[in-house]
Amino acid sequence: MQENIKLLIELQTIDSIILKERNIIDLMPAKLLSADKSLKESQSLSDKQKQKYDLLEKKKKDKERLIEDIDERVKKLKSRTADIKTNKEYQAHLKEIESAEKERYAIEDETLSIMEELDTINKGLKTEEAALKAEKDKIEIFKKEVEEEIAEAEKKLGEFKIKRTTVVGSMDPETYDDYMVILEACNGLAVVEARDEICQGCYMNIPPQMFVEIKKNEDIIQCQQCRRILYWKEQNDVKD
Ligand SMILES: [Zn+2]
Repeated sequence: MQENIKLLIELQTIDSIILKERNIIDLMPAKLLSADKSLKESQSLSDKQKQKYDLLEKKKKDKERLIEDIDERVKKLKSRTADIKTNKEYQAHLKEIESAEKERYAIEDETLSIMEELDTINKGLKTEEAALKAEKDKIEIFKKEVEEEIAEAEKKLGEFKIKRTTVVGSMDPETYDDYMVILEACNGLAVVEARDEICQGCYMNIPPQMFVEIKKNEDIIQCQQCRRILYWKEQNDVKD
């Protein structure tokens, strides 16, 4: 195999790894952001429930104050009973007490239903808080994993950049320039195998005469369709 073709295959292998590692690093912030977003959404739902709980708690206190006021009123009314002179006055007095007590019962009912609602919200909040805590723990673990993954990717990236410099140094500059143009135009894949008379970059058929030439691995031959550099890989040759 011609040395330049060998180097091109090597360079492509290195660049594919570099691209993959860069992708891992580039995609991480978005992954972290989406995990944080989901946590914030859960937190906001829980906060809303808490606000609802506080509001109801305040409403309950207001009702309790009202009941106290009525009790005070009834107490005062009852203390005046002895001073009543006429029957008519007495009837009116009883009616007033009765109406105050009726009002009290109604408010008590409302308070009870508020208490039931508070209880339901409280139970829900407890479940939500447990779920939130679990979610937070999960995200912490995920963040640690991401940090490790990025560190690993950066380490590998550094290693392969050094390897790349060595390979590029042994290549003739013109071939390297051509390679770079194709690499950029072809989504990071410039050198591909010509397997079974098919370009493994664009999967178009390779003309038989051209395939014969490619099989020699002597000249740099580009796919007529996608412009990628084609090479022949011996089926029994695992190395290249
Ligand atoms: Zn092609």
